[in-house]
Formats: sequence, C-alpha cells, structure tokens
Amino acid sequence: MKGRVLTALVLLICVPLTTFGLTLTEEAKDAKQIHLQVLRAFRLNNDPYVCLYMASVVKRLEPNAGVQFPVRLTVVESPTPNAFATMGGYAYVTTGLIEMADREEEVAGVLAHELGHLSRRHVAKTMEQEKPLTWATLAGMLLGTLGAMVPGAGALGPALMSSTMAAAQTVSLKFSRENEDEADRFGLVTTEASGYSGHGLSDFLKKIRATEAERSIPQYLLTHPYSDVRAAKIESRITLPQTTVNTDFFPYVVARLKILNKPFSPAIEDTWMGKHANNPKDPVSAYGVALVYTLKGDTAKAEEVIRGMDSPYRDLFLGEIFVRSQRFKEAVEVLASQTNPIASYFLASALEGSGDLLGAAETLKGLFPYKENLPIIYQRYGMVTGRLGYEGIGYEYLGRYYLEIGRPPAARTYLEKSIAKYGRNSEEGKEVQVLLDETKEKKPDGKDEKTKDEPQDRGNRSLRWY
Ligand SMILES: [Zn+2]
Repeated sequence: MKGRVLTALVLLICVPLTTFGLTLTEEAKDAKQIHLQVLRAFRLNNDPYVCLYMASVVKRLEPNAGVQFPVRLTVVESPTPNAFATMGGYAYVTTGLIEMADREEEVAGVLAHELGHLSRRHVAKTMEQEKPLTWATLAGMLLGTLGAMVPGAGALGPALMSSTMAAAQTVSLKFSRENEDEADRFGLVTTEASGYSGHGLSDFLKKIRATEAERSIPQYLLTHPYSDVRAAKIESRITLPQTTVNTDFFPYVVARLKILNKPFSPAIEDTWMGKHANNPKDPVSAYGVALVYTLKGDTAKAEEVIRGMDSPYRDLFLGEIFVRSQRFKEAVEVLASQTNPIASYFLASALEGSGDLLGAAETLKGLFPYKENLPIIYQRYGMVTGRLGYEGIGYEYLGRYYLEIGRPPAARTYLEKSIAKYGRNSEEGKEVQVLLDETKEKKPDGKDEKTKDEPQDRGNRSLRWY
C-alpha cells in the first residue's frame, strides 16, 4: 500500500503533464496496437458459422455489460481453451474453448466474464498504475504467458496456458483475485440479464478444474483461486438457473469445429457415423454426417441426410451443401429468403457463383457490420467489386482486409493501388489516403514499422469452406 503511494508520488513528479487516467482515445489506440500483436501471434478463425454466431452471442451480452467501447470479439485458432480481454473493447476466444463447451451458456458465461474485465477496465487500470508500462510490453507479457507463437516464449507459457482463461492475465498482468472476482460478479449479472443461465460460467470452470492441466499447476503460480472455488462462489450468487433464450444453433457450431477445423481422419468419420446411426433423429449428428460426406466429396449423400433432417436450419445447411457442390442456382433459391448473416454469407457465394456479381457485392455489403468478427468479408467484397470492374473499390477493400487481419505492409500496397485507380484528387482517393496515413503511425520507440516484421501469411489454410 505504502509502495503504491510512493510510486504514485514519484510519477507525479516525473510526469507532471500527463494525467493518470488513460483517455478513452489513448485506450482505444493502445488496444488496437495490442490487437495487432495478437493477430501476429495467432491465426484467425475464418468459419462464418463460428465467427458470426459468436458475434451474435456477444451482441446479446453487450447491452448488459456496460463496456465503454463497442465490443469486438476475435475468434483465434488454438486447441487450448482460452479467452482473454485486453482493453478498448477487444476480447478474444479460442476455437478450443468453443469446442470444449457443451452448451452455449458456458461460452456466454466466459465471454461475459471477459466483458466484466473490459467494463471494469482491469487491463487499462494496470497500464495506468504501472506506467511506464507500454502497450508493447503489455502485449509481450500477454502473449508470452498465453504461450502463443511468440519466439522465446518459455516453457512456462504452455503450462500456464492450459490453466485456461484469464490465467494469462492473472499471472502476467498481475490481476488480483479481486479483479477476477469482480469480473465473475459483473459477468454473472450480464449473463443473467441477457437470458442465459448463471450456471454457464460455473459449469465451465468446474470442467476446467477437472482437466489434468489445471491440477498440474501449483496454486502459487496463480493469483486467482482455483476454478472450483470461483465456481462455488458464482453458484451462490445465481438468480437465473434456466436459460430463457434460444441456444439451439450452438451445437452445430461445435460440430463444425470438431469436423472441419482439423485434418479429416477415419476416426472423425467413425465418430459421426456412429452418432448418427445411434440417434438418426438427432439433427446435430445428421448435420455432422452431412459434413463428413461433403468432405469426402459425396454431396448427393450429404444432401439426402440434410433433406431428411428435422431442423429449422435445414435450408441453411442445404444452401451450404449446394454452394459446396457448385449448384449455385439451387443455393440461391434456398438461401435468398433467409435473414441471418450466416445464410447471407453463403448466399453471397451462391450469387457470385451463378454470375450475379452485383447481387453478391450487395449481399457482402450487408455483412459489413461483421467485418471485425469475420474480416474475410472485406476480402471477398474486394474480389467481387474488382471482378465487376470497380478496381478502386476492389483494391481499397483488399487493403481494408489486410488492415483488419493485422498486415499493414500488404494493406499499404493495396491502398496505394486503390488511390492510383480512384485518382489522387478524387473524394475516394483522399479518403483512402487518410486510411493509408493511419497505417504509418509510429511505434512507441519512435521508429517506423518495418516491413520485415511482416508475419507470414497464416491465411485460411485449415478451412476451405467458402
Ligand atoms: Zn478473468
């Protein structure tokens, strides 16, 4: 306590002109820089089901979370269950965590906990208190403890990483137990106000506790109590034991991750064929089997299984199979009447495939509110408008895509091409120039960002699914 006061005094003397609080603008700026570091360390998930559905869960939670910034959720590829939040509204969840969840309210509980960290500004306050802690140091600490693909991440990284969500924050950013408890409390209120059972987070924490991984980590390494202690505390505060919102779609998202997001193997095929055989009426197993058939190139069989399904999402799945088998006109027929963004995403592919490029462009434009959750929307819009002959727009959106996925040098190349096509003195050209100038911001060490820092293209290799 005394130490903190002393530090504060010293800082007051040394930094007389800056306030202690980060302004919202500063917080947003720093958060964006940390985000770019996260993007360099992780591969983004690109599955429209996963990204758009998780965005819808966040949309449900956000009005009840009180975060001072619009929340942007990024789904990153990692088999390790994890979720973390930085500041400025940025939150992250791994594919491993989504896959580990049995019910949507578990993921909702975890995300609400992260929104709790955001709304209580735990990371931002750490930065304020620990000046001169810069975003670069903070990002390095965060990613180091996450054991992300950062050169030099020690052996401790992966071990801590397996203790899952917030362990990274609790250790590297010295989140206090109070912070964790506060995020749990705020998270629970958010979860229940959004119509999700309060048992989601506590059940998930108990599941984590049950994994060997957490047990192998000495408690002294964690500044938060073991998951089961937190789970018990949460349970004592639950007021909404039953989920009241529709969570039917979530199991399909998990099925996709289990099937499409890993190398296809006979074991995967056997698992889903077996599930379907045991319970032919279960629509999720049927969907899984249809995906398996699709991966094997037997789209006729996939279609047959989907047609036999009893599910309100049948037409969406059918449209997806049609797109996959390049039967674009049939895909347009079943997808055109649907209003959810996932269907729109496939509809855009169907329209593009059937030659209606204008329709595809319009449909993709309708998905722009999701550009942060699924940046590939920008890339596809750039390609389609380019094919339509609008080269300025095409290059602009390819540039925007590379900005969203954290590759400024590639973005600059496209933005420059775009300006050349628009004309330097045109309205559009000037707008893109502003965007281009923003990519050239200096790093805290005063040096311009170097091109050699460009991460390798981690693209969308594991998943090719329109
Ligand atoms: Zn936490």
